[in-house]
Amino acid sequence: MEITKPTLGGRAAAAVVVAGALATTAGVVNGWGAVDAQPNTELAAKLAANTFAPQPAQAQGPQTVHVIQPGLEAAKLMRAQQMDAGQHVGEAIKFAQDGYTVRQAEIKRVADEQAVAQAAEASRIAAEEAAKRPKVVKPAEGSFTSGYGGRWGTTHYGVDIANAIGTPIVSAMDGVVVEAGPASGFGLWVRVQHTDGTITVYGHVNEIIAAQGTQVKAGDLIATIGNRGQSTGPHLHFEVWVNGGQKVDPQAWLTERGIAL
Ligand SMILES: [Zn+2]
Repeated sequence: MEITKPTLGGRAAAAVVVAGALATTAGVVNGWGAVDAQPNTELAAKLAANTFAPQPAQAQGPQTVHVIQPGLEAAKLMRAQQMDAGQHVGEAIKFAQDGYTVRQAEIKRVADEQAVAQAAEASRIAAEEAAKRPKVVKPAEGSFTSGYGGRWGTTHYGVDIANAIGTPIVSAMDGVVVEAGPASGFGLWVRVQHTDGTITVYGHVNEIIAAQGTQVKAGDLIATIGNRGQSTGPHLHFEVWVNGGQKVDPQAWLTERGIAL
């Protein structure tokens, strides 16, 4: 007779083995190891103790005992198909891992695509906003009181826009504030350098809003109209310097850019 592996057998299979061994002595075997129930104190004791030492086969002629080994039929089937349980488990794990890796890669790919799409959309919106934003704006609202050129025996290098003290002064174009503070004749001034090198000058200001070094967009508040320095009343004195300091007519410069004073 075959003896089941202790680790595979467990109580049930071992019991069948024992039953088979008992059957050989009792001579009562009924089909697949089922034994007619008969009181047997020895079996009861063994079952209770769960100690099933292999029983030596007793020499009482030919016998057939069917031993049920868990997994045996499956093992036979796999062997018949030239398969191996370990290999199957390994492949199953590999498939699962491959599947996990593929799913993670897909999740990352979708997330990356979304990030790229979102960045592109944000970039498109920013470009749209930038395109809508004016390139050049009027530096202050008010009355155009004096133009560029000869005035009172000297040259007036800017234009004057009169308005109440505290009226907003904005940067005429995108740029960076390169100077904001006291200036001879202007009281206080702010100078903004633009990307094309042009510098715009805002004089007699009452209050400086954008400090030196501030990046500004066209239309950003940089100061307020004042009456400081050599001034005959609250107004903005606005100059445009090109080519590294050449003072041109701001009115013409603004007109060329669609802004009327
Ligand atoms: Zn002026």
